[in-house]
Amino acid sequence: MVEQLYIGADIGGTTVKLAFIKDDGSIVEKWEIPTNTESEGKSIPTDISQSIDEKLKERNIHKEAIMGIGAGAPGFVDTSSGFIHEAVNIGWKNFDFGSHLEELTGFPVWVDNDANLAALGENWLGAGKGCTELIAVTLGTGVGGGIIANGNVLNGANGTAAELGHVTVVPVGGVPCNCGKTGCLETVSSATGIVRKAKEIARSYPDSLLQTLLKNGELTAKDVFDAADDGDEAAEKVIHEVTDVLGMAIANMAIAINPEKIVVGGGVSKAGTQLLAPLEKAYRKYALKRTAEASNFGIAELGNDAGVIGGAYLVKKNK
Ligand SMILES: [Zn+2]
Repeated sequence: MVEQLYIGADIGGTTVKLAFIKDDGSIVEKWEIPTNTESEGKSIPTDISQSIDEKLKERNIHKEAIMGIGAGAPGFVDTSSGFIHEAVNIGWKNFDFGSHLEELTGFPVWVDNDANLAALGENWLGAGKGCTELIAVTLGTGVGGGIIANGNVLNGANGTAAELGHVTVVPVGGVPCNCGKTGCLETVSSATGIVRKAKEIARSYPDSLLQTLLKNGELTAKDVFDAADDGDEAAEKVIHEVTDVLGMAIANMAIAINPEKIVVGGGVSKAGTQLLAPLEKAYRKYALKRTAEASNFGIAELGNDAGVIGGAYLVKKNK
């Protein structure tokens, strides 16, 4: 019998990550193609389809082995049809991506938001393995969120459930967010938000390491964590403020689904316990005591593969 394979596709603003994945979640092959965002990203389904065709030939895999494609895109997705309402970074607006990819490849296609798929991947094989209730937060350039409730991804009435990055945390005088609102969590607790906060706090600490770093050039979120690790008071204050807001937002979310696990991923999560320790402390301060007792924190384990693994699982669950 031919071994069944799933295809995971994780569509980002710069690259599309693709993978052939076995039923047990192991990756047979993974590769990337550039995301062509020209002409509103219209060529992306064709690019994906052609690249899959080439790989299948190269590895001598018969089309019958493929159970389907699970694709993630950064935007608002109608999961029942694979229709994308909007994916700003890709250029898609009212784009019938799922049907288009299905026609081109001949495989059944399921589509979800990329952060939801990352949550699903971590839920299948990563830090949130087997959890029925899970909150996944991705801290990168922005803040992504995915929620598993009753064992399923929460999508909501029109695909905006679990958009944790857009929870309002600064009601008055907040910084404008890419979504059009102001004061979103994403403006505070993303890598970009951390750097903004660092610049703000450094002004009151002229002798700090943070201020020296700023004078010498561009600052990154990692520099802030490194400076805090070296005992810089200003950098410690930045991390305290950022994790306090994030912990509060997660605690408020936790009331809705009573999670057993909170998984933190994305570039900023590379800070490890330096991030997790103050975050968990803030969470326990703001959460209902009994809610906090049920949950623990973990750093995402699947890294850049979370999206494609989640995509494969989406097919496996629906097939
Ligand atoms: Zn926003």
